[in-house]
Amino acid sequence: MNTWKKDFPIFQKNPKLVYLDSAATSQKPKVVLNAMQYYYENYNANVRRGLYPIAEKATTAVEDVRKKVAKFINAKDPSEIIFVRNTTEAINLVAYTFASHNIKRGDSIVTTIMEHHSNFVPWQQLAKMKKSKLKVLDITADGFLNINDSRFKIQDSRFLAITHVSNVLGTINPIKEIIKQVRAVNPQITVLLDAAQSVPHMKVDVQDLDCDFLVFSGHKMMAGTGIGVLYGKKELLKQMRPFLYGGEMIREVSIESTTFADPPYKFEAGTPDIAGIISLGAAIDYLGSVGMNTVQKHERQLMAYGLSRMEEIDGITIYGPKDVEHRSGVISFNLDGVHAHDVAQVLGDMGICIRSGHHCAMPLHKRLGIPASARVSFYLYNEESDVDRFVEGIKKVKKIFGSKV
Ligand code: PMP
Repeated sequence: MNTWKKDFPIFQKNPKLVYLDSAATSQKPKVVLNAMQYYYENYNANVRRGLYPIAEKATTAVEDVRKKVAKFINAKDPSEIIFVRNTTEAINLVAYTFASHNIKRGDSIVTTIMEHHSNFVPWQQLAKMKKSKLKVLDITADGFLNINDSRFKIQDSRFLAITHVSNVLGTINPIKEIIKQVRAVNPQITVLLDAAQSVPHMKVDVQDLDCDFLVFSGHKMMAGTGIGVLYGKKELLKQMRPFLYGGEMIREVSIESTTFADPPYKFEAGTPDIAGIISLGAAIDYLGSVGMNTVQKHERQLMAYGLSRMEEIDGITIYGPKDVEHRSGVISFNLDGVHAHDVAQVLGDMGICIRSGHHCAMPLHKRLGIPASARVSFYLYNEESDVDRFVEGIKKVKKIFGSKV
């Protein structure tokens, strides 16, 4: 067991578990679990309302995490960090508040064929509602975005919703260059970056990338489920309407009217996932102690090893870029003549957890001409022996389904 794997109780309790589905959700280190339990056992209270010590302690803990998140992604100010449930909610928040007020009939919204449904369906539905156009940027044969696509007329588009890293192809989009290029021809455009598969795995700097909004989920980066983050540039957050109305997001309420609090509170109606926020702080501390460059380097080595072992297998098709420099630790594949669900089922029976299906990216699967794929994804706690067990599993699948390795 590598030193990092030892930090995760699930592997201590299940030493044979091979977990290769971190793109869906990550495992949690002991320090994260402890932080949540410590909160519930020692200072459980609601935030921003009680004047007694444990309520003040809980409020301070939440605001400390806001500062930590801001530092982690290099936001200018903690008030640019809004706690939501997950990436999906963050995108919907922007669609319902910012975009629905700024996108008019006839305007166009640009997204890409490699988006997760979370960053596709909200824009498709908004385009229908607003009678605006949805433009979908295609990919090249090797799994990169085709920004030279002549149909991709970014000049007259109002909004760009784009992923940093594909949860199927593993492609790391050269997002800094893309945003720069897009802004050069269209300075008015607003850019939302889906960082669900990047923030957990590499260093991300919102000021350097110059995105307007950035979204990610805590559960994919070792924190609890139910906590996600929306980053937005202060000027934009200020002009946006609230998403949900209720407690803790107001300045003053009368029978006739309500004035709203400043960001971030304007967007945080109701009791937040306090334990989740605390877990996110602990996860950031943990990842910070390892270093994001080390996290990325470790995953890249595993991915390169995984790719080389998988390429030995007859009848396997691997999707996405061939070049390890441009992909993250996500490898989607198909085996000739075997459905992805059957692959995952046989491996699952061997204690090897991989994902199968369309991975919430149906337009991409359609584009690739396949109904489904199987996917392995790595994180810090994986090691080469996990890849070896996976390859053994694939050999068994082939035996069961009657093909030769
Ligand atoms: N975007 C991408 C790229 C993802 O991989 C995922 C999760 N698979 C999401 C969005 C949605 O994340 P969540 O379910 O946490 O909202």
